[in-house]
Amino acid sequence: MPRRAFRIFVELEGMYRNIVEQLVLYAVNNGITKFTRLKAEKYRELRSLYPQLPSHYIYTACQDAAERAHSFLRLKKMGRARKAYPEVRSVSIWLDDHLWRAEGLTSISMATHRGRVRVSIELNKHFLRYVNRGWRLASEARVKLDRRERRLIFYLAFRKEVSEYRPKVYVTVDVNEDAEAVLIDGVVYLFETDLSRVTLGYYYRRKRIQERYDKVYGPGSRPARRVLRRLGNNERALKKEIRWKLATLIVRQAARRQAAIVLERLGKEPANHMIERIKNPQLRHRVFQAAFKGMQRAIEEKAREYGVPVIYVDPRNTSKVCPIHGAEIVYGKDRHGVCSKGGETWHRDVAACYNLLLRALGGDGGSAPSRVRALVAVDGGPVPLGPTAAHEPTPIARGAWARWRSLGATSKHKQMRMSV
Ligand SMILES: [Zn+2]
Repeated sequence: MPRRAFRIFVELEGMYRNIVEQLVLYAVNNGITKFTRLKAEKYRELRSLYPQLPSHYIYTACQDAAERAHSFLRLKKMGRARKAYPEVRSVSIWLDDHLWRAEGLTSISMATHRGRVRVSIELNKHFLRYVNRGWRLASEARVKLDRRERRLIFYLAFRKEVSEYRPKVYVTVDVNEDAEAVLIDGVVYLFETDLSRVTLGYYYRRKRIQERYDKVYGPGSRPARRVLRRLGNNERALKKEIRWKLATLIVRQAARRQAAIVLERLGKEPANHMIERIKNPQLRHRVFQAAFKGMQRAIEEKAREYGVPVIYVDPRNTSKVCPIHGAEIVYGKDRHGVCSKGGETWHRDVAACYNLLLRALGGDGGSAPSRVRALVAVDGGPVPLGPTAAHEPTPIARGAWARWRSLGATSKHKQMRMSV
C-alpha cells in the first residue's frame, strides 16, 4: 500500500489495540466472558473516548476482548496462566458487515476513522478453491497489518450449508500418541502418525540448540530466537499436514459409507494414561495437544465440512476389556493381550476400536453390547474373529497413507480383512 494510506491503518490498529486492552483488563477483573455483557457495560464509555471511530469497531473489539478474557480465565482456572493479566500481544482487527465490503474480486472497502478506504486485493489459491466448491463469503473478517511489506492481510470466513445424514454404520477411531486405529468395514487400519515422536524430537532439538547458542551469545539472544522460531514453524507445519491429511482420509471414507464417526470423549487435561511416562508436564501437555486433541479437532472440523455426524463415547477401559466376552484382557509386554475368559489374543488397538463400536451401538457406553456380540461369530473357538490372525490391525506407515487418495488403493491390505 502507499505509505499515506497505510498510516491510516496503523492509527486504526493503535486505537483498536487500546480498546481491546482496556476491555480485556475490565473483563478479567470482573470475570466477564460474554460479549453481550461486556458491550452493555463498556460500549457507551468507549464510544465517547473514540468518537471518530466507526462505532462497530467497539462491537468487534468487545467480541475480541470477550474471547481473550474467556480463554485466559479458563487457563487461570486450570492453573496454566503464567501472568496475572492476559497480554494483548498480536492484534488482528475484527470486522463485521458494517466495517468492510468486497467490491467485486478486485478490492475491499473498509470503514476507518478517516472515512471509507478502498484497498485493492490479491486473491490466493485457497480463496478460489473455496469459492469454486460452493462456499460463500461470511460477513466476519479479520485484518492484520504486515508492516514489513506494508500491506494488509485479510482473513476471511466462508459458509456453506451442510446437512447431516442419519448414519447407517459406524467408523470408529481410537487415537493414540503415534498412530490412529480406524475400524472401517470390519477392518482395523493402524495409521501411523508419529505425532508424539515429532513433538519430542523437536523439543529435544530446540533444547540442544538453545543450550549451544546460550553458551556462545548468552541467554535469549537474537540469533537463537530466530533459529528457534524457524524450528517452531516447521514443527507446526508438519503436524498440521499430518493431521489434516489423515482427518480428510477418514472423513471421506465415512461420508462415502454414510457412516458416523465414533471418537473417544477426551478429558480436558493430559491425564491420559497413554502418556503418563512423559514426566515433564509441559511436554506432556504438548504431546496431548498435538496427538490427541489436535487430531480429534481436525477430524471434527473435516466432519463438519462433509456433514458427517460425530459421536462421542466414554473412553474408559476400551482396550482392557474383551469386546466379545466382556472379560479382562491380560496384556504382556507389547500391545498384545489374552482374553481371560476365551483365551483369544487381542491387539490393544483392535480391542479398543471394537469397544468404541459397542459403546456407540449401546448408546450409553454401558455394559450390554449384545448387538455386536450377536454380529461377531463366537463359536467357542479360541480365535473369535475368523480363522486367520485377524485380530491384528493392518499397520500403514505415514509415508504410505500420506500419498493416497482413498483406501481402495490398498489391495495388499485387503487380504488381512477381518471377518465379522
Ligand atoms: Zn474374549
